[in-house]
Amino acid sequence: MTRRINCNLCKKPISTCFCKNVIPQQNKTKILILQHPEEEGHYLNTAIMAKLTFKHCHILTGVDFLEDNFLRLSLKKAKNPLLLFPKINTEETSEYNTLSPKNEYDLIILIDGPWRNAKQIYRQTKTLHELKRIELNLDHPKLYKIRKSEKDHFYSTFEAITYSLELIENKSFSSALELLKKQVDFHIECMGEKYQKYYL
Ligand SMILES: [Zn+2]
Repeated sequence: MTRRINCNLCKKPISTCFCKNVIPQQNKTKILILQHPEEEGHYLNTAIMAKLTFKHCHILTGVDFLEDNFLRLSLKKAKNPLLLFPKINTEETSEYNTLSPKNEYDLIILIDGPWRNAKQIYRQTKTLHELKRIELNLDHPKLYKIRKSEKDHFYSTFEAITYSLELIENKSFSSALELLKKQVDFHIECMGEKYQKYYL
């Protein structure tokens, strides 16, 4: 039996390794992704793309990060951390699109996983509740059209990072999105003709 060899960086089988398409980005703001274990092995997971693309991007995998040392230290070091996370119910108020360089955010935290899992992480990780929290609601088209989101305006983790960095650092990171576009095209191609017509 031959063992399937995966790429050390993107963790994909060598035949589908996307590392050659990564366009590294020199962001200053640190990125921390709290990833649900179910998302880690998902073939459409974009957190790993973000880790390989953006400078200072770290992924923690788990469900409850309350005792997590990396998160604790990151929050301690950050002067102005920000949580990118939508409101859970209608009673909550949430701020939209108030990202700009004048806020001087130096750490962006995102939760990566299907909505029900993301809510679970948010509820259990109480340290996140004290953070400034913002919901992205922009006019950019969603590139990750192949994966249905339970909330219409959800961007993939990769898109959310790209667009929030553009606002926070007031510069373009749009070349990063080429990787996502290529991955989406690749998956549509793999679907076969029967399904392609829904996406092309
Ligand atoms: Zn690779």
